[in-house]
Amino acid sequence: MSEPAPGHAENEDHAFHAGPIVAVLDGVTVLPGTDTGCVHGPAWYVRRLGSRLTEVAEESPTAPLADSLAEAIRRVRGDHGDRCDLDNPATPAATVCLVRDTGQTLDYLILSDSTLVTERAGQVQIFTDTRFHKVVAELRRDAVTEDYAIGSSEQAARMRQTVTRKHEFTNQPDGYWVAAADPDAAHQAVIGSLPLTGKTRVRRAALLTDGASCAVDDYAFMDWAELLELVTEQGPEELIRRVRLAEDADRDGYAQPRFKRHDDATVALCTFDK
Ligand SMILES: [Zn+2]
Repeated sequence: MSEPAPGHAENEDHAFHAGPIVAVLDGVTVLPGTDTGCVHGPAWYVRRLGSRLTEVAEESPTAPLADSLAEAIRRVRGDHGDRCDLDNPATPAATVCLVRDTGQTLDYLILSDSTLVTERAGQVQIFTDTRFHKVVAELRRDAVTEDYAIGSSEQAARMRQTVTRKHEFTNQPDGYWVAAADPDAAHQAVIGSLPLTGKTRVRRAALLTDGASCAVDDYAFMDWAELLELVTEQGPEELIRRVRLAEDADRDGYAQPRFKRHDDATVALCTFDK
């Protein structure tokens, strides 16, 4: 289930299920007027990357996920064509949360601020890439204050400043990594493997973009176990409905400082009944 932010026609999130692979991708928003060096946008990028990942995974079903992602990024470079300057720091980019069911294990790969929530042996665990949060938290401390309402010109100026600074940390060893034009970013992802057999096997897994995980880590109106229960019992749409209510209750962003009133939100729920 993937829903664009209210008022936005184009969804910069993307989710897909292809054979043993499930993924959610969140295209990095480009501010109006930004020179990205590219004729394509984030919505194009996430869909291209999804198609290329599907293709690569079909060709090499047992390859390490990082290798598959690297190859998909490499192929999307070719999809841009000659018109785009892929060295531009604002080149289209996306966060990635990817899982693969091998029958024995659930392999995962996470780049940037998407989150994987799993339940096994009654324990709920989360997996995310803390480097992005660290960089953004530092930048936001300087840039977003409760003094400026979402949509104000002061806030827009701060946002532009932050995004420019964020590019200095994008796909850099002391910064954070995201799927963009550099295939090497894939090898910086958070990766791991969880059992799908035995007592401690994964029973459920939810893949979330930050527009959905904010229910817990920003708005904090539920915990991870409650989130997993809600999407299992009432569906991802109910989680997204509640996120929209929380965003609307804080329209100007004074309680929860942020750059956008609403964000695209995506949830993929996997259940393993064996
Ligand atoms: Zn392009």
